[in-house]
Amino acid sequence: MSLKSFNRGDHMENPNSETQTIKNRLDDVKQEIYQAAKACKRDPETIKLVAVSKKKSVVSILEAIDAAVEILGENYIQEAVEKIETIGRTPASWHFIGHLQSNKAKFAVRYFDLIHTVDKLKLAKEINRQAKKIGKIQSILMQINISKETSKSGTDEEDAVKLAHEISKLENVSLKGLMGMPPFFGEPERARPFFKALHDIKTQIERQNIPGITMEHLSMGMSGDFKVAIEEGSTLVRIGTAIFGSRN
Ligand SMILES: *Cc1c(COP(=O)(O)O)cnc(C)c1O
Repeated sequence: MSLKSFNRGDHMENPNSETQTIKNRLDDVKQEIYQAAKACKRDPETIKLVAVSKKKSVVSILEAIDAAVEILGENYIQEAVEKIETIGRTPASWHFIGHLQSNKAKFAVRYFDLIHTVDKLKLAKEINRQAKKIGKIQSILMQINISKETSKSGTDEEDAVKLAHEISKLENVSLKGLMGMPPFFGEPERARPFFKALHDIKTQIERQNIPGITMEHLSMGMSGDFKVAIEEGSTLVRIGTAIFGSRN
């Protein structure tokens, strides 16, 4: 479905004004990603933008797709499934970035190309079971509790290597890297040590040479701190507010 067909007959007087806003913001974010990469001598092509569309309307998402967004990030299964059923699976790649309960794994597997938030063997096993049913190899990231806050999701640093070994044995799951969130949103320099810690865990897991897994992705950095995350090795920046505006 294209934005034009969706808007047809809609009440919007000037359908271009909002498009401009999201497109302009997106262009700015892409430019900042490019510059941050260049500044630390990284190839900008190695950093992918996940446009986080949680709580944003289908119209806004279609505007982002029209403005060439390639990856969309969603946090809530039911909300995401409704949007994906409307928009379709294919105009962009859908990533699941929210907390995932085992009983919703089935939907995550059916609708998403990459699940960023796998933090327990139980969840990985359920994803494996659901993926097997539909003949899919499900790409996942392991979420690490870098902030060490008990309220935050993620596996503890000490358990990460062990969990990577266990996940590697699951036939229908492909572990491709790590995801983490620092505790200080929007305070880039205070987030840096947490990004470094995540990068260190990636290195530790790489040293294990575990067959069947890769550590190609580090999912870290949000609207307030993505430049620092890029400096510390991020390959997937998850950006919502800076593209779609605030959520309330
Ligand atoms: C909401 C969310 C984001 C995006 O946050 P912004 O500050 O709006 O860029 C990124 N990652 C996760 C896991 C989120 O829940």
